[in-house]
Amino acid sequence: MTDDEKSPQRWIRADVQALSAYHVPDPGGLIKLDAMENPYHWPADLVDDWLEVLRAVELNRYPDPGAAALTAQLKKSMRVPDGMQVVLGNGSDELIQMLALAVADRQRVILAPEPTFVMYRMIATFAGMQYRGVPLAGDFSLDVDAMLAAIAESRPAIVFLAYPNNPTGTLFSHEAVEAVIEAAPGLVVVDEAYAPFTDASFMTRLGGFSNLLVLRTVSKMGLAGLRLGLLAGPPGWLSQIDKVRLPYNINVLTQASTLFAMQHQSVLDAQTVQLRHDRALLFTALDAIDALQVYPSEANFILFRVPAGQGRAVFEGLRARGVLIKNLDGAAGRLRDCLRVTVGTPAENAAFLKALGDVLGSTATVSSTA
Ligand code: PMP
Repeated sequence: MTDDEKSPQRWIRADVQALSAYHVPDPGGLIKLDAMENPYHWPADLVDDWLEVLRAVELNRYPDPGAAALTAQLKKSMRVPDGMQVVLGNGSDELIQMLALAVADRQRVILAPEPTFVMYRMIATFAGMQYRGVPLAGDFSLDVDAMLAAIAESRPAIVFLAYPNNPTGTLFSHEAVEAVIEAAPGLVVVDEAYAPFTDASFMTRLGGFSNLLVLRTVSKMGLAGLRLGLLAGPPGWLSQIDKVRLPYNINVLTQASTLFAMQHQSVLDAQTVQLRHDRALLFTALDAIDALQVYPSEANFILFRVPAGQGRAVFEGLRARGVLIKNLDGAAGRLRDCLRVTVGTPAENAAFLKALGDVLGSTATVSSTA
């Protein structure tokens, strides 16, 4: 055999070779407002209690494969309706992957409105499925007619609806979501990753539609480091999806730590209240800047559009001033010149706004003199 025959190019699937890896920038010492993390940790006495719990965890043993204690607590904390089943994942990312694996077939389609969370498309590709993105309306609301037409045409195995949506922050109207659930021939997964930051949810509607599942995560509420997601829905679906789960996918530290955190949920809830309050202040401050178009958000981040052609320069200018946010300028055309900032602490938000004011001042000067 020649070296060419043993090469990655010869063996790695062409569709995988064509993908770009999910890029996570190194924050270094920057103020990190790029990844929808909760900026707060816990009071010192709570950390002590948590460490005490960890002391008893047996690292030499495999975890409880069904994570029974944690599952029971999460069902209660997340108000999963009686009669519904849940499957836990190593982050909700893993649950999206399990869903795709469970339905995967070359001809089958995963469908989502766009722009949205990029992993729906990436995971469809990993699973060897077709992906169809349906453009959102101009104001980033769901274009129901376009969605229904695309559903009728491609008969998707799964429709993903991020509710609220990432990266736009939009909360689709519940009527629009219901229309999609009614029309879809397969599963509709309402991805409620940002549930702590909105009052809306489809969790209470589970069981009311035979094809509805709800996806949650503990990442955005302050436990991103633990990697824990939850899929809830009728047992008929969930017991099938559970078969593609790898055994022991939720490690002992995550099981013990999430259980502990959920037993002290008031601490996380208070942080969420603070972030929702600060989101409103940040929105008002951004909206007052004439140069920006700012989109209303029901999540813990805000999407905004800078003057044409300046997306990259504003992103780089912020980074040079010590603030890392998310640059969406390079993504699909609809997000040209768009940046996304996660709501941080009041001090972080102030530092971001100060840096943004400086950058917009200097880019405005550059473009007016250019
Ligand atoms: N769904 C949506 C809509 C998201 O924005 C994200 C994270 N950016 C996820 C799911 C994945 O979250 P995790 O894997 O941390 O649970």
